[in-house]
Amino acid sequence: MAKQVTPMIEQYLSIKAQYEDAFLFFRLGDFYELFFDDAKKAASELEITLTSRGKGEDAIPMCGVPHHSAEQYISQLINNGFKVAICEQTEDPQLAKGVVRREVVQVITPGTVMEGNAVVEKDNNYLLSLTPYSEKELGLAAIDMTTGEFLTTVLAGDFEEAIHEVSSFRPKEIVIPSTLSDDKQNMLQQRMNVTLSFEDELAHHSDTDKLISKIEDQIAEIACRQLIQYVLRTTKRSLEHLQQANYYETNDFMGIDVHSKRNLELIESLREKKKKGSLLWVLDETETAMGGRLLKQWIERPLVSNTLIEKRQSLVETLLERFFERETLKVQLNNVYDLERLSGKIAFGNVNARDMLQLKRSLQAVPQIFDTVNDLGNNYATELTSGVNDCHELYLLLENSINEDPPVTITDGNIIKDGYDRELDQYRDAMRNGKTWIAALERKERDETGIKSLKIGFNKVFGYYIEVTKANIPNLPEGRYERKQTLANAERYITNELKEKEALILEAEEKSEKLEYELFMEIREKVKQFIRPLQKLATSVSTIDVLQSFAEVAEKNHYVKPDVSNEETVDIIDGRHPVVEQMIDKGDYVANDIRLNEERGMLLITGPNMAGKSTYMRQLALIAIMAQIGSFVPAKNAKLPIFDQIFTRIGAADDLAQGQSTFMVEMMETRHAVSRATKNSLILLDEIGRGTSTYDGMALAQAIMEYIHNEIGAKTLFSTHYHELTTLSEHLSHLRNVHVSAMEEDGKVVFLHKVIDGAADRSYGIYVAELAELPASLISRAKSILNEFEQGDKKHAYISNEEKRKTEPVKQLNLFGEAEENYIKNNKQQTITSHEKEIIATLQTINLLRTTPIEAIQVLDELQRKLQNGGS
Ligand code: ADP
Ligand code: MG
Repeated sequence: MAKQVTPMIEQYLSIKAQYEDAFLFFRLGDFYELFFDDAKKAASELEITLTSRGKGEDAIPMCGVPHHSAEQYISQLINNGFKVAICEQTEDPQLAKGVVRREVVQVITPGTVMEGNAVVEKDNNYLLSLTPYSEKELGLAAIDMTTGEFLTTVLAGDFEEAIHEVSSFRPKEIVIPSTLSDDKQNMLQQRMNVTLSFEDELAHHSDTDKLISKIEDQIAEIACRQLIQYVLRTTKRSLEHLQQANYYETNDFMGIDVHSKRNLELIESLREKKKKGSLLWVLDETETAMGGRLLKQWIERPLVSNTLIEKRQSLVETLLERFFERETLKVQLNNVYDLERLSGKIAFGNVNARDMLQLKRSLQAVPQIFDTVNDLGNNYATELTSGVNDCHELYLLLENSINEDPPVTITDGNIIKDGYDRELDQYRDAMRNGKTWIAALERKERDETGIKSLKIGFNKVFGYYIEVTKANIPNLPEGRYERKQTLANAERYITNELKEKEALILEAEEKSEKLEYELFMEIREKVKQFIRPLQKLATSVSTIDVLQSFAEVAEKNHYVKPDVSNEETVDIIDGRHPVVEQMIDKGDYVANDIRLNEERGMLLITGPNMAGKSTYMRQLALIAIMAQIGSFVPAKNAKLPIFDQIFTRIGAADDLAQGQSTFMVEMMETRHAVSRATKNSLILLDEIGRGTSTYDGMALAQAIMEYIHNEIGAKTLFSTHYHELTTLSEHLSHLRNVHVSAMEEDGKVVFLHKVIDGAADRSYGIYVAELAELPASLISRAKSILNEFEQGDKKHAYISNEEKRKTEPVKQLNLFGEAEENYIKNNKQQTITSHEKEIIATLQTINLLRTTPIEAIQVLDELQRKLQNGGS
């Protein structure tokens, strides 16, 4: 049944129809109102009261927020990934015939938001657009509206592969053509948890075409045009502050896929998703928000060019040596506010006098920063500052025009300095003179009437008045003033002269406020002319900031300059894991060497749980990344090749906390690594094959190693708890065994965390179980089962030469005493049941050091029951 709707609701519905995917904030007087489903959803999202408009049948669900506090509600919705269309009254309600005209003036979306708490200081806020061109080509464009950055590229490979590059932007919102398949849409949404938006038109406007004039690639151009169109359509503003789109090649940078970035905890920790515990956390001693953002970008995209890396290194080295200059520089940088975002704000129109002041103070600091940097006498330092406009002219303009302590609102006056504009000065003189005149009048009237308490006041309704208390009225000469207002215990009067002065003062006040606003707008326009130079300046300052941060961190943590070359050698002496060493007590970190070269391209790392296998592997990856972003590294000495890509795969069992224990994911990521890696890549495979049954897992692990060894030749670290795999070094010529040592002390495993050449002689699961005082009968049963397995192993294909294996066990460290050795030797052969297989598998995977007593008892109970069932 069609409901009666009022003309206003009709207007609402027709506007809403154009903004289906956004909350429509519909301006009604002092409120933004939401209706129908929008109202229901917003009421629960924002925890505001749902009411209704109209009664009974025709009642419409409604909720609203006051317009002056709307910002906080809008932020909340944007933060949760929603979009908000702001619909304003675009004519004066008093002049309107019929329903007031209304229009959407802006759609705020997670990717286009300019302020509020969705915009984090040291984070970029990227909006991406993707345009699939063919099965193997995908155009990508990325804009950060708050900084004006604009990038584009073309991604080769299938969609799945492309997602790695896409997610390196950590986008808040992705714009796609509506024709993109549901599968792909789902993939984007699931992998990245972003807001998806649709745009099927491509922008063609002379002013925005300028932004993409440098782009030659057609596919990239389409992605850019699609993105520009979307931004124009939603923001409905000019895009003056956007920089020209820059084409980049993905292989201009080291490739690190999403999983690896997560596993290596580059930007945030794996479990808590916090900056603390990440590489960024260790490296971030930046003084400015811009520097913070740039550092993050560098970590996401390490360099592959020797020359560029060495440039950065050279300045870090200089800064490290020049302690005093560095200290000065830090103080100077600290005065620089967010130039990029300030200029973005100015161009966008949301700017107040305080922003202008921040800009001024930043610009004031720049010449000093440049002086300090130039004094370093470093070539790269000079390159960073030469030809960069320090915008001194703009500084002078702001210095001469903007008051030191301006109000937040730009319509209240008091923004512009005296002496900046002659007309304004005249109004101000008039105001001041008028006020002096009034003060003089008050004194004169007191003297002449003898009434000490006589005073001159002001209110909005009556203007200036003379006030005399009731008690003093008899002392007032008749007819001296004209009575205006009677209060309980006073009378208020005016005189013609007072009213004349009042008119002058008020007029001057009104005119000066209006003039100040105009002047402010004029200044804003002048600032806009400086947007390009400001952006260049921002790049220069933020680069300097990141490099001083590297120097600072290098000094604090005793890093060394790595020797990065195109040779194939990794030679790290006393390397440390940059994050772990910060997390444990000072001096407790056990430094380790890592040596890899053409003959020794692959390491198989064995050792007990918690020995430090994973840490050792990540240590190499992190040192490589640090080296390739130009940072110094935690080691005594480091020589590194330039890696084109890094792949890491952490075995499923270790990844349980992520809720992604599926073996399928593990295998997909492995496929990703083996299909993309080259000879110049670094692959870390940490306990691969754990997510499936033992033989299965071992077989896969071996096959993967063989494949990488024979087909790819990438530098590879492979950790495993299948210590049986250590015999592989016999037929893989570039494979070497290393192990992380541990020893027993007072009945406890003590992890030495020292990596030593050679294989560990055992996996220590049962030993650890014994230390944990599992029942003796269970332990001895486990040992006999293990023995069975070891007998059974002989049937395995990888043992090319059984005799050789027997004669060549590498005995670096023997956790098992002679008794155990003998025990295993002497034990008679038995057939094992599937229950027993399960038990051994469970025992092997238990991480005792991370198991609570209650969990241990539960596991024991389970094992015991399995044993009993199996025995029956
Ligand atoms: P694994 O992978 O062999 O089970 P991890 O690499 O996860 O072991 O290391 C376990 C813990 O041991 C780490 O969280 C860290 O606290 C500590 N650790 C690892 N390597 C070292 C080291 N070289 N020096 C000091 N502590 C270390
Ligand atoms: Mg591990």
